[in-house]
Amino acid sequence: MGLMTNCVIHDYKKIVWEIRKKSFPEIKGKILIIETKRLPFWAFFIWFVPGIRIIFINYEKTKGLSKFELKALFVHELCHAIQGKRIGYFLFWIKLISYLTFGKRLRAEIENEADNMAVDRGYFKGIYSVTQKIEDAREYSKYYLTAKQIREYYYFQKDKNTFAIAQ
Ligand SMILES: [Zn+2]
Repeated sequence: MGLMTNCVIHDYKKIVWEIRKKSFPEIKGKILIIETKRLPFWAFFIWFVPGIRIIFINYEKTKGLSKFELKALFVHELCHAIQGKRIGYFLFWIKLISYLTFGKRLRAEIENEADNMAVDRGYFKGIYSVTQKIEDAREYSKYYLTAKQIREYYYFQKDKNTFAIAQ
């Protein structure tokens, strides 16, 4: 006990498996999870080869996240897998390379869409909470939606759906 009580070791593989089963059944193949602290990202997604995807997780930056928030972070990464699936493996790499080099607008588009998709799939609270933590850590990047924008998107969609049902 003692020292160990503050130390939560998350089973990343299990968390991703649970989310896949519940919300991303269309993603087939293997997803490897690589734990690192060397990346400038909290997490990062790569469609490595057609049947293998990789999610890098920065255990250093994410150590303050609850399981609930960690889940949302992985959901965001799995939304990148969906984006890749839509355009195909070849275009995924073209986009990834421009994302990492000159494609600033593309980068914002991809990241904003992933957050919105995560909200659409029912993870608003988690995404909102993670984004708040990133903002609190002063690691907010202009390519991502702010917590406020995520909340606005959520309520906008909710109102739209309520209106559609009322029709
Ligand atoms: Zn992302």
